[in-house]
Amino acid sequence: MHLTAQDIADWQPEAASGPGVTPLQRAEARLRQAGQWQPAQTMGRRFAIGCVALEITQRCNLDCTLCYLSDMSEAVHDLPLAEVFRRIDMIRDVYGPHTDVQVTGGDPTLRQRHELVAIVARIAERGMRPSLFTNGIKATRSLLAELAAAGLVDVAFHVDTTQQRRGYNSEVALNDLRAAYIARARGLGLSVLFNTTIHRGNHHEVPAIVRFFAANADVVRLASFQLQADTGRGVLVGRPDLLTPDSVAAAITEGAGGAIRFDVPAIGHRDCNLYAMTLVANGRVHDMYDSVPIITAVLARSAGVQFDRKRPRRAVAALLGFLARNPGLLLRALPWLAAKAWAMRADLAAGRGRVHKLSFFIHNFMAATALEPDRVASCSFMVATGDGPISMCLHNARRDSFILKPVALAAGAWNPLTGALAGEPARARRIPPKGRTAIRYVMRHDRA
Ligand code: SF4
Repeated sequence: MHLTAQDIADWQPEAASGPGVTPLQRAEARLRQAGQWQPAQTMGRRFAIGCVALEITQRCNLDCTLCYLSDMSEAVHDLPLAEVFRRIDMIRDVYGPHTDVQVTGGDPTLRQRHELVAIVARIAERGMRPSLFTNGIKATRSLLAELAAAGLVDVAFHVDTTQQRRGYNSEVALNDLRAAYIARARGLGLSVLFNTTIHRGNHHEVPAIVRFFAANADVVRLASFQLQADTGRGVLVGRPDLLTPDSVAAAITEGAGGAIRFDVPAIGHRDCNLYAMTLVANGRVHDMYDSVPIITAVLARSAGVQFDRKRPRRAVAALLGFLARNPGLLLRALPWLAAKAWAMRADLAAGRGRVHKLSFFIHNFMAATALEPDRVASCSFMVATGDGPISMCLHNARRDSFILKPVALAAGAWNPLTGALAGEPARARRIPPKGRTAIRYVMRHDRA
């Protein structure tokens, strides 16, 4: 059963909890209702929501064949900073501290630099974790350094063949660009992520991309793969049958060169998200979730422990501190830890003891015309609209109703299409063409 057009139009954003109900309890209730509450469920225990996307612009300097923006997006002016700040505070009210907030768009680096820095700083000041989601074209090292100083935790580079970047005709060829982006972020104390959209044309290259990420695991912390979905203005329609979360997991496993389990911790709905964590030593990938009882017990009991993604040593110290406070669990885990170290001994020796964490994430967005109610209701990936957070899949299905809605500012109603307050003249702005012309335009201006 799918949501009807009326259901989609009627769906209401999430609101802050009433008295006596915490964000974690509300998340648990949503997951229980969807039949997704189980011992290894992390949402509702460790965090109240997987992440919240904060779209600070609808503009983009690429024109991906699987873009989730709408045909109207480029015509929309950037949200006033006061409204962006209000939405940041709203996210904090609804989900509490430590929430992961994706600063995204469009491409967020198209906003004025001082505004982008102020947005990141505001999220960090509110005790949440800002991530920059960008195609990297304008994410220079100097910008990343300034954002890191303002409190940025992660930078997620979206690089794949849907972007049709000139000179790169395959995912393997794009590894040169990925390497350049890694070099830009190296040493800035940022956790580096890569997003790759998987479609018919690049599914066979997933193992090669995974080998690249494993070879660069000293910087790359997470490789996220999104399956093609029929939503937004993208022109590639019809997900092929061969493309499933399981087929992508199998391709990642092939690239990793050994078994990886994607079925241990749950992040929200199982049909939406699959997650695996590995350790990389000497360029070789070792699964961390191969003991379900131990991992489940550690996940459940360490739910309140915060792991610092920017400082791996602090994260390890937090884990060791947790184990020291839970000697019974440590005793249970010791045989597994010893077996893990023994299995990795050759790579640990060859890599001089250096070990890096590399996680894999598979995200299964839904088509705009096939939204499943239980997945939307238990969604772990929300978008901050003016009225509250709402499921990303549902947001994409009716994006225009959110991005074209006038914004109430202290000075009056602001119109997204004119960029002006009611009664003021429209602000002139060039709307770049999309399609092939736009791609050529962007490539000529890719000077980063
Ligand atoms: S955005 Fe869609 S696919 Fe992702 S968690 Fe939410 S409902 Fe599931």
